[in-house]
Amino acid sequence: MSIEQPTVLIVEDDLEIRELLSALLQEGYQVITTSNGEEALERIDNLEPDELDLILLDVMMPQMDGFELLHRLRDNFRTETIPVVFLTALNEDEQRKRGLKLGAIDYIVKPFDAEVLLLKVHNHIQQKHHQDRLHQMSMIDVVTNLYNRRQFDIRLGEEWNRCMRNERELALLMIDIDYFKRYNDAYGHTVGDNCLAKVANGIQSVFMRSSDFVARYGGEEFVVLLPETNLEQAIQLANQALKKMDELDIPNVGSKISPHITVSIGIAATLPETKTSEIELVVAADKRLYQAKERGRGCVMPTRHLSTIQWSDNFSVGHPVMDDHHKRLVGYINELIKFIGQKDGEAQPDVMALITKINSFADMHFEAEESLLSSLDYPSLPSQLSAHRQYRELLSPFFSEARNSIIVEELVTLLRDWWENHILVDDMVYKEYLIKVDQQLN
Ligand code: GH3
Ligand code: MG
Ligand code: MG
Ligand code: MG
Repeated sequence: MSIEQPTVLIVEDDLEIRELLSALLQEGYQVITTSNGEEALERIDNLEPDELDLILLDVMMPQMDGFELLHRLRDNFRTETIPVVFLTALNEDEQRKRGLKLGAIDYIVKPFDAEVLLLKVHNHIQQKHHQDRLHQMSMIDVVTNLYNRRQFDIRLGEEWNRCMRNERELALLMIDIDYFKRYNDAYGHTVGDNCLAKVANGIQSVFMRSSDFVARYGGEEFVVLLPETNLEQAIQLANQALKKMDELDIPNVGSKISPHITVSIGIAATLPETKTSEIELVVAADKRLYQAKERGRGCVMPTRHLSTIQWSDNFSVGHPVMDDHHKRLVGYINELIKFIGQKDGEAQPDVMALITKINSFADMHFEAEESLLSSLDYPSLPSQLSAHRQYRELLSPFFSEARNSIIVEELVTLLRDWWENHILVDDMVYKEYLIKVDQQLN
């Protein structure tokens, strides 16, 4: 729905009529003119879904006629609700009936009366705006301006199925404001409502991808759907939401854990399968939310999905120096994980020094591995080089940015990716090659 002038699309192959219509509508509307069905579809494709308010559609056009275009518009959920008014010539009753059957909202007979045309356009657009408003109201929660529970239920089902088809993980966050009853008691219900809106806004600002979906689940509870997101990524985002609450700094004298409003967050992520249901994802996140409350509130559960790695001989690539390097990487990952696990008050290892060590280790290891493989004429060296280049690029920001515990978690995620997806995959390929070369030498 355009806030300023409504937008009308004219699809008419006759230049004279097109210019006449355009001149008539120019006064109160944004007018887009096209001379055939293909061109119209292309223009519609480049518009925002609710940018177009009405289409004036000629029936008789070369190639794709008006019926065909209308059929296509009704078949697409992005365009199915745009009102279409047909332009037909006198004495073409059959056409009018066919157009109305296909879902056109009205027809205008050529040659047309300018005033009648303008009135019809005006009325149909009013009607559309009214419907848009009702539709909007049925989806949006008035207190927080977020999607409501009903919309969440619909989206959950859709995303569950979409992620199942694409074999991608779906993550879900349940977020509950801490000590909100006491907040209402202290400041009153109206201030409570304002607080809900601010918290909602703060949460929304953390989830920037267009597929991320934030809704009010009910009361002082929010829910976030994160398609194509794994648990570790969801944990990072949830931690950002906690940080956001600190930044908002909304005083809550009723809180027993902080001078300001905090939230507790339960997280669950899964690869959707037919044998489970989306309800289980909600239940799991809810359980974790309960655990976060138990744990003392103002935190995320699970805190992390990070377990230390136990070296095993299966991980050997068959070269003592490389194995030694890979063991060192495992050691660094485990040290970082221990650092993240440490609670305030305990002695903290010097994590900065550790990260600096990892930095020079990575460079040293990649260089050593590359020169070893190149001296042995390893045929897949190029793919090793490109993987190493990628990890170098991904790692470099961690060695320059300020470091807090969230950054450390991200670094661990990246190092684990290097471990799981490169060392245990790509490097295992040169293992066989090394054995072969070794046998030839002996
Ligand atoms: P906890 O830390 O365990 O979550 O404690 P809590 O007080 O936040 O949780 P509880 O479920 O005991 O209370 C929720 C409160 O949220 C009670 C209710 O008055 C308030 N609340 C729910 N919906 C609204 C609303 O729309 N506006 C306002 N102002 N308050 C609301
Ligand atoms: Mg609460
Ligand atoms: Mg509650
Ligand atoms: Mg390698």
